[in-house]
Amino acid sequence: MSKRLQIKSILNDDYVGKNIIVYGWVKTFRSNRFINLNDGSCLNDLQCVVDYEKLEESKLSKINTGACIKVEGEIVKSKGRGQSIELITNSIDILGESNPEKFPIQPKKHSFEFLRENAHLRVRTKTLSSVFRIRSEVSYAIHNFFNKNNFYYIHTPIITGSDAEGAGEMFRVTTLDSNKKNLDFSEDFFGKETNLTVSGQLEAEALALGLGNVYTFGPTFRAENSNTSRHLAEFWMIEPEMAFYDLNDNMNLAEEFIQNVIKHTYEKCKDDIVFLSDRLEKEEMSKPKDQRSELSLIERIEFVINNKFKRVTYSEAFQILRNSKPNKKGKFKYPVKDWGIDFQSEHERFLVEKYFKCPVIVYDYPAKIKAFYMRLNDDKKTVRAMDILFPGIGEIVGGSQREERLDILNERVEALGIEKEELWWYLDLRKYGTVKHSGFGLGLERLILFITGMNNIRDVIPFPRTPKNAEF
Ligand code: ATP
Ligand code: MN
Repeated sequence: MSKRLQIKSILNDDYVGKNIIVYGWVKTFRSNRFINLNDGSCLNDLQCVVDYEKLEESKLSKINTGACIKVEGEIVKSKGRGQSIELITNSIDILGESNPEKFPIQPKKHSFEFLRENAHLRVRTKTLSSVFRIRSEVSYAIHNFFNKNNFYYIHTPIITGSDAEGAGEMFRVTTLDSNKKNLDFSEDFFGKETNLTVSGQLEAEALALGLGNVYTFGPTFRAENSNTSRHLAEFWMIEPEMAFYDLNDNMNLAEEFIQNVIKHTYEKCKDDIVFLSDRLEKEEMSKPKDQRSELSLIERIEFVINNKFKRVTYSEAFQILRNSKPNKKGKFKYPVKDWGIDFQSEHERFLVEKYFKCPVIVYDYPAKIKAFYMRLNDDKKTVRAMDILFPGIGEIVGGSQREERLDILNERVEALGIEKEELWWYLDLRKYGTVKHSGFGLGLERLILFITGMNNIRDVIPFPRTPKNAEF
């Protein structure tokens, strides 16, 4: 592997007095003398000092924001403020020019909307590069956590034939001519109707009942037509599935897992997170006082790492919401009246942000609003489901103990009118060595929203897929 010296190492290790070569993109070039150079290895730039009298005019005019250059010179202690070391440039090569008139990412504040339209270049900003470094570290931390805890990383299909999961609207996969009417799917590539996966859970259950503890980590597709700042049409989901786990074990694992991943990332990405926390604080200052969040990003992260999540049943949460001020004053768009309603985002956020002021796990939901595979409680009205709700985001995890009893699962499948033939293999799992088991799904981007303090899910995935948008 070619070992390019990274700016991160130059800034962190002792290079004073050494002659080095460094590559990167020009952030700014001030007074024909100071280049701020960044190579993506860390938040900070390396200041390169140019002696413009010694440099050919043809090169000097090409040191523009966005250009890629190679610099050779000596690292010295900096006399200026703002950095402890700098590079005294000996020679510069222009590797890739950038027209300063046309390069969209100017050294000034850009709106996130503008940056989304330039998603191919937005990684050149401090904010987005920080987010993507954090995204990488979070992904590593997730694999690391499961690996250390003896979970197997499994791969479930992206093209699926099971449409019974009901987790969301699906994208169809077909090679049939879509101009024809009355498509005959027996003529299709797979000989049946297929879709992009909305969840790998059913397949993960099959593998857990043989491997023990498994997890998936892969892309997930939902034709969500809702255009919110929390939903993508293509997102990444982590789905652990554990044999011999009941709902309590499941909640314990989810809590430990989330805290562990956040803690790891916080320690590894301190600079980026401090930067994002400051960014958010400035943004908050422009809001009216009563709408600002009480805690900074760093305080929120520390709080979540150090405090237990609050656990309440759906029925308890329902009572809290029904008796709450905003409900009594008619402030909720969806009033909380009858037991059995699905909580809306405004309800979840009230519970988390106003009432408990910490992450909340709501469990034992009404069977009617949850999927067929969740284990029925003895009351016959609720199921062993749990959602984890986070401040500023709402739901970040959805999980459950699965129904392992064939007769009850059959009843639920029939009651919901789901085609049994489609589920034959899933039902088989209850015939051959069935046992209690549980699992959950964590949306990677929702977790990253929390860790970065970003507001829009489109800004925590490099190339977001949302309704009417598949550019790049
Ligand atoms: P929501 O009510 O927010 O739409 P859901 O109930 O559809 O979520 P699940 O089916 O339980 O969610 O999926 C598990 C997890 O996947 C969610 O807790 C969330 O973190 C994430 N998730 C679900 N849908 C999306 C989406 N469209 N974009 C990004 N993440 C998502
Ligand atoms: Mn959804």
